[in-house]
Amino acid sequence: NGTESASETLFERIIAREIPADIVYETDTTLAFRDISPQASTHVLVVPKARHRTVADLAAADPGLLAEVVATAAKVAELEGLHDGYRIVFNTGPDAGQTVFHVHAHVLGGEQLGHFGR
Ligand code: 5GP
Repeated sequence: NGTESASETLFERIIAREIPADIVYETDTTLAFRDISPQASTHVLVVPKARHRTVADLAAADPGLLAEVVATAAKVAELEGLHDGYRIVFNTGPDAGQTVFHVHAHVLGGEQLGHFGR
């Protein structure tokens, strides 16, 4: 809701299992769980367990971990049967609607998606 503290976000609490989430896949370094307000038939969030605010911060600090986030997103797409394609979105900053400042990939699919736009 845009009121995350500097020290902890909602997603740290999900990673710590302090808040329940519908987890679909996990690796040593990443976690995938369903978005609470899905915007497509499949809508899963993939986070690195280590906190970085944005995908740009993550790319600069730990590119290997960014690759692991993308690999987990691809694995989720496979598990969800998204054989005709899917979208990976990183909302970055307030103008993009980023509300949780722990980087997360949205994995969207299971239907024909609109081409960009609002
Ligand atoms: P953003 O807008 O920052 O790119 O995405 C944040 C996402 O987190 C939104 O799509 C929102 O629906 C989702 N979200 C917010 N609160 C919760 C929650 O408590 N649990 C889960 N699973 N998703 C949440």
